[in-house]
Amino acid sequence: MTNHCCEAMTSRVNVRCDQHADPFACPDALVDFSAKFQEYGLIIHDGGTSSITIDFCPWCGRRLPEPQRDRWFDELERRGIDPWEDEVPAEFQDDRWLASLRQE
Ligand SMILES: [Zn+2]
Ligand SMILES: [Zn+2]
Repeated sequence: MTNHCCEAMTSRVNVRCDQHADPFACPDALVDFSAKFQEYGLIIHDGGTSSITIDFCPWCGRRLPEPQRDRWFDELERRGIDPWEDEVPAEFQDDRWLASLRQE
């Protein structure tokens, strides 16, 4: 579980709706948090899966963590894994890959 900057963000990220399994289909879902990239995005409800990446929390105003998207690709490359061709290991599907780096 990732600790978010404030309670408002935590509840927004974890909003679960029993009518829409997919947050992009749910009008109540505002924020999409990508655990593997540590990236926050505002969901654009245009029927697709677009979101606008945000650098600051809209509720508490704090700077959000640095996105790890580039590092994610670097780490897979270091392991000789091509994310487009090969199967991505389970720890790279969420933020576990970051935890294992911190222990190194
Ligand atoms: Zn909904
Ligand atoms: Zn916040």
